[in-house]
Amino acid sequence: MVTLRVTPKREAALMKAAQVSKAGAEFEIIKREIPEPNTGQVRIKVNACGICHSDVLVKEGLLPGIQYPRVPGHEVAGVVDEVGAGVTSWKKGQRVGVGWHGGHDNTCRECRRGDFRNCRNVKISGLSYDGGYQQYMVAPVEPLVPIPDGLTDVEAAPLLDAGITTYNALRNSGAVPGDLVAVQGIGGLGHLGVQFASKFGYNVAAIGRGSENAMLAKKLGAHVYIDSQATNAAEALQKLGGARVIIATAPNSKAMSALINGLGPNGKLVVVGAAPDSIEVTPAQLIFGSKTIQGWAAGTPAASEDTLNFCVLTGIRPMIETYPLERVDEAYARMLSGNAQFRVVLTM
Ligand SMILES: [Zn+2]
Repeated sequence: MVTLRVTPKREAALMKAAQVSKAGAEFEIIKREIPEPNTGQVRIKVNACGICHSDVLVKEGLLPGIQYPRVPGHEVAGVVDEVGAGVTSWKKGQRVGVGWHGGHDNTCRECRRGDFRNCRNVKISGLSYDGGYQQYMVAPVEPLVPIPDGLTDVEAAPLLDAGITTYNALRNSGAVPGDLVAVQGIGGLGHLGVQFASKFGYNVAAIGRGSENAMLAKKLGAHVYIDSQATNAAEALQKLGGARVIIATAPNSKAMSALINGLGPNGKLVVVGAAPDSIEVTPAQLIFGSKTIQGWAAGTPAASEDTLNFCVLTGIRPMIETYPLERVDEAYARMLSGNAQFRVVLTM
């Protein structure tokens, strides 16, 4: 007897993704095949992905060389779902995150010197390749960050960019315990910056516009709240002795310029909020008192790992609003409005 063997046509498993089809286009929720990891890559089942203001770069095509369609997202938390060939240090089922730093080549001069953050061929997740606004994402192993048990996925996601940026900028700023450190802006970055500055043992001055965040800033660990609408914030800092460090998180170059005179001797303005217009400063403002202005971007995956562990150790958590992936339009608009308290996170 002959049995006819029918091979069922293999149906590719599908997943949902929020993609931008071209620069300036709206988000589209699409169904696409679940991607397979290649050599040196893993596939992550994404559980949460933060929406960051720098996702505007992808949405609006503000950096050259972005290939569309593109799935944004560089605050990704999930679980390793499949490993590609040659991957030995990451296992299926392991909780991992991916932040802004999306990979480095290990071969350029900076990488050979261990300065992976400044790799000449650095990749940005959700920009150089598809990021976390989707149910499954493929990533190279270089940017992976283990997520400790003490953090949920929605808590870990914003820490992988907003968290590491403020944590790493502050711990590399030169300020030591007891120094006056000002955090400008009580928003997505600033509300984390105040918490880190407080746990680092600084004398923390939080600077915000208006009085509505005064109570919250104190609750987050600020010793002093300065309302920059009601008072001259630079003068207020000078009355406190002058800041050793001001970390400027709100993307407002005018506000940053106005704070430079609040620096004390050897003071440093660390810029992490990205605004398109110029910071204005005269040479004399920098020369007298040997003051510095420095920019800072996120950090390596190892520094992200430090950030997550420090948050578990000290109880620091981001304040978040969550939205399901299907409501990405609403979530993105909420982020853009500046009214979110404080980080917007997509869940899959
Ligand atoms: Zn490199």
